[in-house]
Amino acid sequence: MSYHVNEKGYYGNFGGAYIPEMLYPNVEELRSKYLKIIHEPDFKQEFELLLKDYVGRPSPLYLAHRLSERYGAKIFLKREDLNHTGAHKINNTIGQILLAQRLGKKRIIAETGAGQHGVATATVCALKGLECVVYMGEVDIERQAPNVARMKMMGATVIPATSGSKTLKDATNEAMRDWINNPVDTHYIIGSVVGPHPYPDMVARFQSIISEETRWQLKEKTGTESADYVLACVGGGSNAVGMFYHFLEDEQVKLIAVEAAGKGVHSGKSAATTALGREGVLHGSRSILMQTNDGQVVEPYSISAGLDYPGIGPQHAHLHTIKRAQYVNITDDEALKAGLLLAQLEGIIPAIESAHALAYLEKMKFKGETVVVCLSGRGDKDLATYMNYFGLG
Ligand SMILES: *Cc1c(COP(=O)(O)O)cnc(C)c1O
Repeated sequence: MSYHVNEKGYYGNFGGAYIPEMLYPNVEELRSKYLKIIHEPDFKQEFELLLKDYVGRPSPLYLAHRLSERYGAKIFLKREDLNHTGAHKINNTIGQILLAQRLGKKRIIAETGAGQHGVATATVCALKGLECVVYMGEVDIERQAPNVARMKMMGATVIPATSGSKTLKDATNEAMRDWINNPVDTHYIIGSVVGPHPYPDMVARFQSIISEETRWQLKEKTGTESADYVLACVGGGSNAVGMFYHFLEDEQVKLIAVEAAGKGVHSGKSAATTALGREGVLHGSRSILMQTNDGQVVEPYSISAGLDYPGIGPQHAHLHTIKRAQYVNITDDEALKAGLLLAQLEGIIPAIESAHALAYLEKMKFKGETVVVCLSGRGDKDLATYMNYFGLG
């Protein structure tokens, strides 16, 4: 059983490249060149150096003592929150900007919801002196003002998407349209393991540094590079794929992917894709997505903007279908409480996205097992939400 993409761009039944004909040249250029480029010694050297000196990798693997005591397990946190710009997203944008340069591209576009991926993209464009255009829903621009300011300060142009619900899905449509109109000089940096082949595999490779480091760090700290459980939250699924990647073939490791249940799986306000969704095509690939009986995409809901997505990447759809990973979900309330708990037990304020993964520990039973949780990002962006919820303002 393979867990990775095949030559046709599929993970089992999922994946592929379902794109309008006008995008074919761009996607085909990428598909035919990405593996060759990322294996070139000069690419690898520059990628590794930037991850080290610019992002601050390796990110620590921290044994959370008081959290471990509470749950009766050895709980390690993979500290992606300590990366430059505050989340795992930068691993992927560094990889893609180096690729874009080698493809001779002069202009970068991206879509963003909460603004985390937009900030990571604006950051690497400043680093490389490339023009950067970020599409963002008009509603999100209002909700996420600090991230919009960051992007602008780094020289990016932020274009509001004014159609539909004026959020992430609409920003993605605008970015696609831009790419169709600028096929020669522009590279589209997608922010998760979604989109047409080769994006899911390419992003997974760039994020796989998370589990590559975790294995040697576990070896140093516990004497074995394996673990009993590995957990991560899933929006599109990039931090989870990065966290699972080098554990996939280590079959004794139980992989747990945590989706956002919002106000409850059956409340009509949820983003629990595997619980509610079925097979379909979204943003260029066949996967599992939330849809009505006649195939209309259902608007997702989660208090965490990063998990507020109606689909998952095709690799996750495959891992779910073959049961290599277990897909569970956590409500807004449960996530916020887990975020507060980590703040008060460990002095670490997690992104609400990451707090979903932490919250699942509460539902597990432990007898001293080794557990790794991916702390995908830090909670600075979420302080107002935490304050409001707990009446701490
Ligand atoms: C964007 C984001 C996520 C969700 O994206 P994935 O591709 O599922 O990882 C999770 N955590 C943080 C901190 C994010 O910024």
